[in-house]
This record gives sequence, structure tokens and C-alpha cells, in this order.
Amino acid sequence: MATFEELKINKSILKALEEIGFEKPTPIQEQAIPIIRSGLDVLGIAQTGTGKTAAYLLPIFAKLVKAEGEDPRVLILVPTRELSIQVGEDIEELTTYSNIRHAAVYGGIGWTKHADMIKPGIDILVATPGRLWDLYKAGAVSLKKLKTLVIDEADRMLDMGFMPQIRQLLEIIPVKRQNLLFSATFNESVEEMSHEFLDFPERIEIAPSATPAQLVQQCYYKVPNFKTKLNLLQYLLLDEETFSRVIIFVRTKENAESVYKIIKRKAEGQKRILHSNKGQNTRINAINAFKDGDIRILISTDVSARGLDVSMISHVINFDLPQRYEDYVHRIGRTARANNIGEAITLVNPAEEYHLRKIEKVIRMEIPMKEIPAEVEIPPTPKPENQEQLREIDRQKKLEDPTFQGAFHEKKRRPGESRNKPTNAPKHLSKTKKFRKGRGSR
Ligand code: AMP
Repeated sequence: MATFEELKINKSILKALEEIGFEKPTPIQEQAIPIIRSGLDVLGIAQTGTGKTAAYLLPIFAKLVKAEGEDPRVLILVPTRELSIQVGEDIEELTTYSNIRHAAVYGGIGWTKHADMIKPGIDILVATPGRLWDLYKAGAVSLKKLKTLVIDEADRMLDMGFMPQIRQLLEIIPVKRQNLLFSATFNESVEEMSHEFLDFPERIEIAPSATPAQLVQQCYYKVPNFKTKLNLLQYLLLDEETFSRVIIFVRTKENAESVYKIIKRKAEGQKRILHSNKGQNTRINAINAFKDGDIRILISTDVSARGLDVSMISHVINFDLPQRYEDYVHRIGRTARANNIGEAITLVNPAEEYHLRKIEKVIRMEIPMKEIPAEVEIPPTPKPENQEQLREIDRQKKLEDPTFQGAFHEKKRRPGESRNKPTNAPKHLSKTKKFRKGRGSR
């Protein structure tokens, strides 16, 4: 395996690498660095946790050499604020002994502060697409000098609907440039995007798409209902030594609040909620406190999952299954970073078992089941919850077999009775509709 010296990394950067403690390149770095240095376009398929950020940053630093001019020569587009902050911090650390300048900008706070950061001159701009446009339209940034465009987490960019904004960008940046596109997963839309943005790219793939970090030990518990999930969660968190730094993933903001309320009362240690409807500062403070070890437990929805780079996470607990199966991979990728062993525990109710099986297909492995410990109280499932689960199971069966009638099909109508008769519609039917339309907000 090559060393960083053999990859011709500049001296000032080598010094920083040594200080940070990166001893040797990760596989993606070993592969990507020489190709990026050669000036070719790159399509990199690698999850977070593989070292992909440094894989594109290190050759970029080599190209830039030193601070020069006022306008950025490198633009790194990222989908979320968290990732923008994270990439900015990585640049900061790696350029400790170099004079390369950068700014990391993102939406949610006033753009003038970001304009002030850019004004004195920068070499690298890290930006979310929306914020980039704010700044561009205000004349606060010029992209005329751009030589390298990086699109990080392209799959998430697509999911978040940033394509139109990124396409517009192509019209205002120099045609002659190097393009690097990184994505955690590879699918048709990412492929299309790569055709649009890359010229004869070299493809680098570190693991088959959607393969979870190999060091994560995974397991799941079959849990009959919401209350038992909370009881089991409380029980697990009592072991503070083992569960030393935990992220609990929840699908909806509402569940984030419920989980928070319960563990605030019962478990020791400080915890804060990190989810999308909290203010920007609260989110950043929570992430920082978690990174510093001041917070043992962080509760997050999938929205915040990607950019979060915190090492030494002992456990990822999936309080419920994510809406999209790839998100399972991203969730568990939070643990086992940079060679730490981590554990991912998933709590699965009867209606979620179907999704668990689908996830197993995506990750091409079986997740072992654990028995609920005897100390955990298992209350009976309340009727409405039970009905909701049964309806969901019916829906899944219908998806698999459209002729399936189901236990919860509508009552047979008498001849002449209208299907949409609104009168006295039982409450649970309106609930079903809501449930089917969209299972919660994120
Ligand atoms: P990334 O895939 O860019 O999100 O990086 C995942 C983690 O790996 C981060 O915590 C990096 O600091 C760390 N990392 C990146 N490169 C190396 C390396 N060569 N040796 C050890 N850790 C690394």
C-alpha cells in the first residue's frame, strides 16, 4: 500500500496529516489521489466513513499549491449544512501549515455573514446549492476562476431536488475545468448525473453500492409496540459504559420528541435532540457538544444523518426503520468510522419486519435477531396501534400480491351505496388514508 509521501502530497499537508494521526491512505485515497492529480474527471462511489473527503481534498490542495488571487478556484457543492461545516473543518485541519484559504457556507442563516467570509479572497468555497445562488445573485462571489468542481453526496443532492440549481450553475462556470462527483450509492439517476457533469470519467468504487461499513456489528430486536420500544431503549441506555456515545435515529420529528421526553426522564447523561425542525444554532451546538463528548446521546432524523462526522460512536440505534432503505446504510455508517468497532441496533415492530427484509436485500446480508431481555417490560399493544400495524401489513401484502383482499378491506357496500359516502365515516378510515399517504414528516 502506498504512503502519503508516495502519493506526492505537499510537505505542509503531510505535516498536518501526521498531526491529525492519518498514518496511511485509505483505499479510496490510494486510488483517487493519483487520478485526480492527473487532471481526469472522477466518479467516486464511496460512503462516508471511507475517507472520501480527504481523497478529493488532498489532490486539490496539491493543485492549488498556495493562496492565490481573490476568487475561488475550487467549488465543493454539498447537500446539507452539516456536511458543509464538516468539509470546512476538514479543510481547516488539513491546511494548518499551508496558506490555502476557504469558506464553508450554507443556508438557514443570513448570507451577509458568508459574503464577509468570502470578501478577503478564498481558494476553496464549500457550499450548499441554495446558499451559493444567494451569494452569486448578490454579486458576493465570482466563479470565473473556477478550475475544479466537486459534487459531494450526489445521490443526496438528487434526493433533495437540487438538480435544477446545479444545472443552472453549469451555465455560469468556466467550461474548462475538472469535475469530481462523489456518491454513497450508485443508481440510474446518479449515472445520468455523471453523464451530464463528467467528461470521460474514471470510475472508482470502494465497496459495492449500499454495502454497510464492514466493521459495524448489526442486530435487531422484534418489538411488538411503541411503548416496548421505549422500554427497551431505556434499558439499553442504562449501561452507560457500553453505550458511551449513541445516536438514536427516528423517522419523524414527532418520534424524536417522544423519545427525547422519555429518556430525559429516565436515562442518565445529557442528551439533546438534533432534528430538522430545531433552529440552526441548536443543531450546530448539539453536534459540537456531541463531538466534544459533552452529550452522550443524540437523537436525529435522517435529514441530519449524512454530514455528521463524529468518531468513536459506540452505538447507532434505529428506533424505527428509515423511510428509504439506503438511509439504513447511511445511519449505521455513523458508527465504525475510521476503524472503530461499532454496533447498530434496530428496533422492529411487526409492521416493520417487511422493510427489514427489504433492507437485508439491499445490504445483501442477514441481520441477526436478539431476544428482548427479560427485564424489559412488554405492555400489550393498544388497539389503535395494533390496527395501524395490521393495516400496514395488509398494505405490504397487497404490494406483493395485488389480488390480496386483506383483513382491513373496506366493508362490502350495499347495491347503490356510494363509495365516497362521507357521512359517519369511521375515524380509523381517515387515519388509514393519512398513514398511507405519507408516513410522517422528516
Ligand atoms: P469521510 O469518509 O471523508 O467522511 O471520512 C471518515 C473519517 O475517516 C473521518 O473521521 C476522517 O477524519 C477519517 N479519515 C480520513 N482519512 C483517513 C486516514 N487516511 N486515516 C485515518 N482516518 C482517516
